[in-house]
Parts: sequence; structure tokens; C-alpha cells
Amino acid sequence: MHIIVVNAGSSSVKFTCFGPTAGSIMATGTVERIGRNGTLLHFKAAGREFIEKQVNIENTAEAVAILSRHLVDPQTGCLNSLEEVHAVGHRVVHGGEKLNQPMVVDAAVKEIIREYFDLAPLHNPPNLEGIEAAEAAFPKAIQVGIFDTAFHNTIPAHAFMYALPLNLYREDKIRRYGFHGISHQNVSRAASEFLGHAPEELNLITCHLGNGCSITAVRGGRSLDTSMGFTPLEGLVMGTRCGDLDPAIALYLMEHKGLTLSQVGDLLNKKSGLLGLSGGKLSDLRDIVDAMEQGDDRARNALDVFCYRIKKYIGAYMAAMGGVDAIVFTAGIGENSPLIREKALSGLRRLGITVDHDRNQARSSKPREISAPDSPVKVLVVPTREEREIAGQVMAVLEAGSSKMRKSLTNAPFIL
Ligand code: AMP
Repeated sequence: MHIIVVNAGSSSVKFTCFGPTAGSIMATGTVERIGRNGTLLHFKAAGREFIEKQVNIENTAEAVAILSRHLVDPQTGCLNSLEEVHAVGHRVVHGGEKLNQPMVVDAAVKEIIREYFDLAPLHNPPNLEGIEAAEAAFPKAIQVGIFDTAFHNTIPAHAFMYALPLNLYREDKIRRYGFHGISHQNVSRAASEFLGHAPEELNLITCHLGNGCSITAVRGGRSLDTSMGFTPLEGLVMGTRCGDLDPAIALYLMEHKGLTLSQVGDLLNKKSGLLGLSGGKLSDLRDIVDAMEQGDDRARNALDVFCYRIKKYIGAYMAAMGGVDAIVFTAGIGENSPLIREKALSGLRRLGITVDHDRNQARSSKPREISAPDSPVKVLVVPTREEREIAGQVMAVLEAGSSKMRKSLTNAPFIL
């Protein structure tokens, strides 16, 4: 049985082919800069040469088609026929309250993904294009949606409700949804395995720190609270997003600075975060660290704000769970920046958290512990494996049978 995982974004498609033995990757491919100058294809199948070439690709459908052709091309691929693919798993960012677990995608599910276009305008449209492209490329395969919001479906009402008039929740579905769920779920499970405990026995705080950043309280293997909210703008400071903000600031910008609605949206999503704080030129953490090391005070301040926000959330989630067994760092920054990990957890000895300086500096692509041996709270670095997580969830759907999965569509939860 082969499973393909498709992650279709606004200008890229990532494609991974998993083999019949659980977890074995047979091929990976990406198409980047779709519809722009210099569209680039990368493809690598097991036992074949790595391919990199410029291609003429206008949309997601063409990207999925060219990647699947490479999969069966005798020169580049590893399958004899696309019919060897049993299922295609799709990362879909917003599943709202209705698509709250992995689900076989049929016309009704596609309609709901479309319904949530307004809630995730940058993500759900290309995700749906990816599904339709895979339906065309793999007509015999089962299409399965894996939703980034679904892991957070267990967050209780007191944590997902905003203190707004109730009808805004009832009618407009304004609530905390949370994102990066596939990653938080993957690393929380991997951390439990690393610690040698069942997920049910552990309270974890998972910090996904990449271009987008979010932090989740995971109690007993389930999401209890998370920092991203109605949209992926809330919570931690990110590369270009502001995270938590007094909502009155948006009103002030419109009333006193004459900014339009879309200018405010642009400012909060694309010009804030590390980019805004460091003076409008740098959003990549590595550049900001370099600038700080050369004495740039704005860069130092940006890192201070970034790390303080993480620390504040860790304190909040320790209180929400009544204590924590381990704090887990993942994604580009979380996996690669000892500086950020140490800074975010500095001064927390009295809360039982001590990072070991030398362990923290060590590099590895495997899960590892970076806390001091006598630290009651363990601190871990766990590389996120989102594609594997999606493939694993697709397997679970296939094993459970699609009828069970479809039932939940009629049982949308949490309606107050
Ligand atoms: P992601 O969205 O998970 O790909 O993460 C992107 C972020 O990770 C960017 O801010 C990068 O600067 C950061 N990052 C990637 N590699 C490193 C590294 N070796 N050291 C520090 N930050 C890194």
C-alpha cells in the first residue's frame, strides 16, 4: 500500500510518497514559485538521482500532475503505475468545528472546506485545489483530509470562547480554533515515546517555533489550550505577525493614522513580529541573531520580546494544567536555535525548569533532552514530522473504514 501526502500552499506543492512499510519514504518532491517567474521543481526517489529543474507550471493541478508523472517515470520514479497509490492525504489548514478529525474527502467535505475559505483565505483555497488535483491525478485513490485545526478540537469552551457577544460564536463561529495541530500532535506523541510514558500520563507544553509560531498545552495526549486563535495571528510573536495585541490598537490605527482595513491587516500579518520590531528589514531569526551579535539594539529587543512572550505562555499553560512534565521545542527555530530555547526558559528554576547549557548546544536530527539532569521538568527538542503524521493518520482512516469517519460530520461538537 502506498500513500501520497500532498501539502498544497499558495505558491508551492510539497509531495511525499510513503511505501508499504509504515513510515518509509520512497520519494519526495516540491514545486515552488508556482505561477511566478522561475518555477522550480525538485524530485528525489529512493535509489534515483536528485532532480532540480525550472518548469513551466501555472497552477496547483499542473504541479501535482508533473510530480505524479515523475513518480512513475522509469528514469526518475519508483512506482510502475499510479494505481499502486491507495490513498492521498491532504494537509488542510482549517476544518472548523465540523471537520474535527481525519476524514475521507467527498463532495460534502469539499463543500465544508469551501465554507471555511473566509476563515483561512490564504490556505483553504490552495488546499482544496490540491485535493481536486489529486483526484484527477489519482482517480482510483481515496482522498483523505487531515486538518490542522482538528487536534485542537478537544479544547474546552472556557478556553476556546472569546468574551464577545454570544451570537458571534453561535452565528459567525468566532472562537479559538488553533493551528499547527498536525505538528503539535506529532511532537507530543514523539515526546511521550521518548520519555517512555503513555501520552495519557503526561502534561506537555509543545512550542512550534518556525516562521509561524504557536504553543500548546497538551494534557493526556489532548490539546487543552493553544496560542493561535480564530486565525493564525494570535499568540506568540512570529516572523512577520504580531501575535497578541490589544484589539483597540487596530481601531486606533484606522481612526488616527487613517489606515484602511486591508492596510491594518497587512501591517499586523506582514509587517509586524520580528520584522517590525527589528526595524522592518529582517524577519529570519538567523539574520536577527547576526544583527544582535553585531550590536544592533533593535534586533536584541526583538529577540527579548519574542522570548518573553514564549515564557509568559509557558507560565500560563503550567497553571492551566496544574504543572508540566516536559516542554518540547520544534520547527525551524525550536529545533535549531539553542539561544532562543535558553533565553525563553531562563530564570525558571523555581518552576522546576533548568536547561543544561552543553546539552542545549548539541545538534541532532533525533529527539533529545536538553534539561539539566536534576531538572524536575524535562526540556526536549523533537523534530516535527508533519508528513509522517499525515501518512499515519491516513493509515488509521483506512483501517477504521470511511463510514465511521463520516459520522462525525453530522455530530458537530460544542454548540452552546
Ligand atoms: P520553519 O517555518 O519551521 O521552516 O522555520 C523557519 C524559521 O526557522 C526561520 O525564522 C529561520 O530563521 C529559523 N531557522 C532555520 N534554521 C535555523 C538555524 N539553524 N538557527 C536558527 N534559526 C533557524
